[in-house]
This record gives sequence, structure tokens and C-alpha cells, in this order.
Amino acid sequence: MAGKKANGSLVRRAVCPGSFDPVTNGHLDIISRAASLFDEVTVAVLINKKKSSLFTVAERIDMLRDATATFDNVVVDSFHGLLVDFCQERDISAIVKGLRAISDFDYELQMAQMNHGLTGVETLFVSTNPLYSYLSSSLVKEVATYGGDVRGLLPDDVLERMNAKLAESAGNSA
Ligand code: ADP
Repeated sequence: MAGKKANGSLVRRAVCPGSFDPVTNGHLDIISRAASLFDEVTVAVLINKKKSSLFTVAERIDMLRDATATFDNVVVDSFHGLLVDFCQERDISAIVKGLRAISDFDYELQMAQMNHGLTGVETLFVSTNPLYSYLSSSLVKEVATYGGDVRGLLPDDVLERMNAKLAESAGNSA
């Protein structure tokens, strides 16, 4: 619930939502910056049964927990349905998203306006670190599928788990 800090001020909570299939260094950059601005940050994995994914939700949560273990104000959770309902249930007042390129903007603006209209939740956009502006989970998976070197774009243990999964799915479809 709302919650106050020892000094009487309100606890400021934010959410970083996404598919995280799997988490990349671009996601981690946004999460770490949100963690420096808010008292508590929830990384929320979207459960979308209509979208096929490489990793299960439990696996994605597991990798995110490992990757964010060094932040003492970051927790990982999952949600389905409306993000605004998830925010209301947890007294989260802000959604933090990374804006990679102008192509992200149209959709994100529409979504931010809809969410604000629904419950008044704010959306804050963090400009992507240029090192990661071209990075998305789907592109990383595609490049790795064809043997491209994606080291440095995601945590080492996530890379290992992704390569193992891709080898497994290649084996299954052979
Ligand atoms: P993707 O599959 O495109 O990586 P996600 O749904 O997992 O997408 O991403 C969740 C959110 O993380 C996106 O809305 C975006 O705000 C942010 N994000 C994803 N990749 C990056 C990146 N390279 N740099 C900054 N933010 C990113």
C-alpha cells in the first residue's frame, strides 16, 4: 500500500514492463536508471499467451532476478491484463520505458496517453543509451539463431541460456 518513508515522505514506486524474452543490457540500462530515480522499481514480465516466446515466464523472471540482484530496490514480478490495474494494486505511480528510436514513439505515446486517461498513471520515457539503441530481444534472438556474435549485448549467463534454448529448438525442428 501507499507507504511512507521514515521521514514521512511517500514511497515512490515505478514499474518497468516488458516481455524480456530474454533480458538484454538495454533493458538493464533502463532498469538501473529507474532504480536511481525511484524508491522501489518492479520489473513486470507481461504474460501474453498469444505471443510465442523462447523462454517461459518463470525462466524470464529467474534471469531478471539474477541480473538485477545487485539492486536492493528492484523486484521482479509478472502480470497479465491491464498494466494500469497492476499499478493500482501495488500503488505504483509511474511506468518507466526506454525510447530507442522515433519508431518507438508513436505507439508509446498512444499507450502512455491511454494509460493516463484510464487511471492517471504517469509514463516516463528514458532515452536509450546509444550503445543499445539498436538492441531488442527479438533481434538478439534472430542474430544468435544464425550464429552471430551477440556477446556484450546481454548478461553472460543469459547468453548461455539463450544459446542452449536455441540449440534445443533447432534440434527439435531438425
Ligand atoms: P523488446 O522485445 O523490444 O526488447 P520488451 O517488451 O522486452 O521489448 O521491452 C520492454 C521495454 O524495455 C520496452 O518498452 C522499452 O521501453 C525497453 N527497451 C527494450 N530494449 C531497449 C533498449 N535497447 N534500450 C532501451 N530500452 C529498451
